[in-house]
Amino acid sequence: MDNINREYIDVYINSLINDEDKKLEEFRKKCEERQLPIIHKEVGQFIKLIINSINANNIIEVGANVGYSSIFMSEVMNRQGKVVTIERNEKFYLEALENIKSFNLEKNIEVYFGDAIDILDNINGSFEMAFIDAAKSYYETFFNKCALKMKSGGIIISDNVLYQGMIATDDLVIRRKKTLVRHMREFLEYISHDDRYITSVLPLGDGLAITLIK
Ligand code: SAH
Ligand code: MG
Repeated sequence: MDNINREYIDVYINSLINDEDKKLEEFRKKCEERQLPIIHKEVGQFIKLIINSINANNIIEVGANVGYSSIFMSEVMNRQGKVVTIERNEKFYLEALENIKSFNLEKNIEVYFGDAIDILDNINGSFEMAFIDAAKSYYETFFNKCALKMKSGGIIISDNVLYQGMIATDDLVIRRKKTLVRHMREFLEYISHDDRYITSVLPLGDGLAITLIK
């Protein structure tokens, strides 16, 4: 099972979303054909809502892949703001650079190559939004490192937190994912019960956690 929602619900929700501009739509299609793990369309729409609600100008992302979501967020900010993103896979990192160039967004998107666990310590700046979309066992570390760089009132969005349904029920957990599932459950407990944060977990896409940094 890949989707946590019934397919007809996802299809219907997606049918309500305005088409992206042509170039971005083509880029999405190419990524989907290659089965790259880019953000679901409805997750993009939710991110768009948040960026506009809080007037985000500076975003930090963990997990660039080939750059789709960073380019999407840059377009949502009308190509004005700044996205800092991190990718540890060299092939994807180089491809992200190329894609960002083809969208003429080199000035708006900065891609760091390496493990976010190290890189995050060396990034300066303060951000209104963070988007966590990388190795699922390390979300708590990514989150805490991002939280240090957030402005008060900032929002951290964590993607894939319900991971194919496995996080919510043991019935779906496959053996080699056991550790990841335990870590993700601990992460969701943590961000849901710490007084510094207000978190809402939504069954959108593959599960999204939205956290307000008070
Ligand atoms: N946000 C992208 C998709 C990211 S897929 C989009 O929606 O377009 C997750 C990516 O995170 C993968 O490319 C993977 O290589 C990268 N990744 C996983 N763990 C990482 C880590 N510790 N540091 C940096 N990148 C990581
Ligand atoms: Mg994701």
